[in-house]
Amino acid sequence: MSVDGRGTAPASVGAGRDAASSPVPGAAPTDLDDLRAALGDRLLTDPASLAACAVDSSRAQPEGLPLAVVRATSTNDVSTALAWAHARGIRVSVRGAGTGLSGGAVAYAGGLVISLEAMNRILDIDVDNRLADVEAGVITADLDAAALAHGLFFPPDPASAQWSTIGGNIATNAGGLRCVAHGVTTDVVAALEVVLADGRVMRTGARTRKNTTGYDLTSLFTGSEGTLGVITAATVRLKPVLPGQPRTFRASFDDIEDAGRAVTAIVSGPAAPEVLELIDARSVEIIEAFHPSGLPSPGAAMLVGQTVGLAAHETAAAIADICRAHGAAETEISDSDSLLEARRLANPALTAQGLRVSCDVGVPVAALATVFRGIGEIAARHGRRIAVVAHAGDGNLHPTVEAGETPEEYAAAELVIDDITRLALSLSGTISGEHGIGSVKRHELPWQQDATALDVQRAIKAALDPGGILTPGRAV
Ligand SMILES: Cc1cc2nc3c(=O)[nH]c(=O)nc-3n(C[C@H](O)[C@H](O)[C@H](O)COP(=O)(O)OP(=O)(O)OC[C@H]3O[C@@H](n4cnc5c(N)ncnc54)[C@H](O)[C@@H]3O)c2cc1C
Repeated sequence: MSVDGRGTAPASVGAGRDAASSPVPGAAPTDLDDLRAALGDRLLTDPASLAACAVDSSRAQPEGLPLAVVRATSTNDVSTALAWAHARGIRVSVRGAGTGLSGGAVAYAGGLVISLEAMNRILDIDVDNRLADVEAGVITADLDAAALAHGLFFPPDPASAQWSTIGGNIATNAGGLRCVAHGVTTDVVAALEVVLADGRVMRTGARTRKNTTGYDLTSLFTGSEGTLGVITAATVRLKPVLPGQPRTFRASFDDIEDAGRAVTAIVSGPAAPEVLELIDARSVEIIEAFHPSGLPSPGAAMLVGQTVGLAAHETAAAIADICRAHGAAETEISDSDSLLEARRLANPALTAQGLRVSCDVGVPVAALATVFRGIGEIAARHGRRIAVVAHAGDGNLHPTVEAGETPEEYAAAELVIDDITRLALSLSGTISGEHGIGSVKRHELPWQQDATALDVQRAIKAALDPGGILTPGRAV
């Protein structure tokens, strides 16, 4: 899948659908024949489709080629595939668009991949109830565009919205640029259709605003990273677009700690932005080298954000005042979206430079200045440059360690990430604000969660997937 000429996301499955299909050597041919008889050309074994699922967008190493890919077009396809894998003890990975940054969708060698990419129908936009019913493979930005036609929008706004799927967003409990105002994905999921590891189909939640019936299974599956079930459809909440011309604002700082203090003051005050992001000077340099847009270079860091509603200009002006009071060297308010577009390019720009060793730690917003100071100290201690972009209003940071592409360089960069993660935890933060654990952060889990909490999660996993076939060894 080519991304807008500006970057690339992992290849789509089905790229080689017309190529001759042949079972992988070592697979049990009769077993696969059973599945092929049930799924027909939705079972892919051509090399291009297998290779496309061996990686996601993270730095996780491929584990080998899967046996086959199920390009599901219905809930029944997913159910058939899971019942087949369950009966044979075959490991299954689940895949939306493969934009994940934690290794959760990477195929298992000799495993089965279930791809939701072709289940991409928007089933209904229920304007009166501000709900949308979608299949799991709907692209996030497509839902947002469909909602916009009714004066509504889908609040979560990951920077990957042009490529990621709603199912992937739910499975990772994705965040994004608008979360400072509207919360994360779990805040907008009303109901789910899920296929369990043994192939049984289950529905959770309700279409009502309030629902206290039974355990909150919708929340349990949200953020479960493909380990508890395959999400095939969802009912999600939409919000109305506010009247008035949105404004974007920029504030440049010569000291990144001042920028952190400004964010804390903005978020604790009455002037509420819809977006509040930070891009440090090094990231601005990398983004401009990737896609020049005339983004002015700050001394240390810039805050960029957006305000909406009839008072958008006044709100942006109040935020600019706060920034100046906290040391901003320069502020700007405009009608253009280009500042936010530049922010959305941060990940593709870093990836184009081979910079993939990053994380998504979170800290309470009042700790932002302290965490920025600590990251500077860690960079100096390791003798490495660290580029930082952040969903600053959420206290959610993406530091990326500059390192070469050899295994030794990667290993050295991982040690830097470990130190940043411990720093975030020392400030009452979290090891993952939005990307999930997958395989790349699994070693960090016990740093944040106690043994009992880990036991409880593994017990839930064992109850729902006793054979351990669904995304085993990842997330929990
Ligand atoms: C350029 C770029 C920018 C990004 N910006 C953001 C951002 O701002 N905020 C953010 O939160 N993330 C961001 N990400 C990470 C990524 O886009 C999100 O994690 C996204 O939610 C993944 O969606 P996907 O469809 O690509 O899922 P995949 O990568 O295919 O899968 C991700 C995980 O979800 C599971 N999964 C996928 N679909 C299902 C399903 N239907 N049922 C059960 N499990 C499933 C997979 O097994 C895997 O564990 C970014 C990534 C890139 C490349």
